[in-house]
Amino acid sequence: MKIVILDGYTENPGDLSWDGFAALGELTVYDRTPADQILSRIGDAEIVITNKTPLTRETFAACPGMRYVGVLATGYNVVDIEAAKEKGIPVTNIPTYGTTAVAQMVFALLLEICHHVGDHSKAVHRGEWTSCPDFCFWNTPLIELAGKTMGIIGFGRIGQNTAQIARAFGLRVLAYDEYPNDAARALGDYVTLDELLAQSDIVSLHCPLFPSTEGIINKDSIAKMKDGVILINTSRGPLVEQADLAQALNSGKVYAAGLDVVATEPIRADNPLLSAKNCIITPHIAWAPKESRARLMEIAVNNLKAFLEQKPVNVVNA
Ligand code: NAD
Repeated sequence: MKIVILDGYTENPGDLSWDGFAALGELTVYDRTPADQILSRIGDAEIVITNKTPLTRETFAACPGMRYVGVLATGYNVVDIEAAKEKGIPVTNIPTYGTTAVAQMVFALLLEICHHVGDHSKAVHRGEWTSCPDFCFWNTPLIELAGKTMGIIGFGRIGQNTAQIARAFGLRVLAYDEYPNDAARALGDYVTLDELLAQSDIVSLHCPLFPSTEGIINKDSIAKMKDGVILINTSRGPLVEQADLAQALNSGKVYAAGLDVVATEPIRADNPLLSAKNCIITPHIAWAPKESRARLMEIAVNNLKAFLEQKPVNVVNA
């Protein structure tokens, strides 16, 4: 049985092992697959594993040997799951592997905004402390979190984990979710979206990207926020209208933003957020600590094993 991994590099740039897949069949791993090589690389393989390489209706029509598609991510919008279903091909995903890693990244971004540790360390290495007339200096405002309010939009797994950490910092937590959940009430106070926007010093996005959430942060919602609010987005770039956020950062309405995701990835050179004031941008790394990728790998291998044992799990097109 042939197994083809079309774009394995981001999941395993060399610090993990593909042995779990290799034990299940004749494995070929490609770091990346350009669009014009997708069909030839799948060829007559029965098992196809993708992360972001698209598998369209045409792919399924052109590769009749395919029996199973495994997506190395939670989001599976790169696969035409209906076309797969019509061919009787199950598509699986990794429903959860990175909850703690993403929640941790929220605070990596937030603490960078509060203390600019990296910039201050660089300043010290440049000699600014050596030549300083005082015993200390700081080049940016320093912000204490205790006593402030964090508003979490989307109070699911990552939102609730973020709330747990927030509470340890002494933050008050407000939550907005379309589907409030009783178990989560212990971690934050559910409010309406408008209440959350009006009361939060920090707004953190954790809802999925749906048509209803696309652009949820825009000039109107920003106008409802406190002056000097901090925005954190580790969820999906299109939740934010980027031009509106850039304008709000430049005017100071939004004091700072910490973004792990942008609307088009990799980021385009003309993204207005690249030149906006006080905007920290990381290249979609929240999911990527080794521990988190190792969990993803284990679940992906177990998904394939379960399929081969005719007890499929995590099927998104059942
Ligand atoms: P989850 O499904 O556990 O939680 C999402 C929550 O959003 C749910 O409680 C749901 O009810 C709520 N929701 C749905 N529609 C909403 C709406 N219109 N308004 C407000 N809330 C709404 O998902 P999760 O595991 O917590 O992941 C959240 C998001 O994090 C994912 O959708 C993904 O986009 C993102 N993510 C990012 C990375 C990264 O590397 N940056 C990694 C993993 C996940």
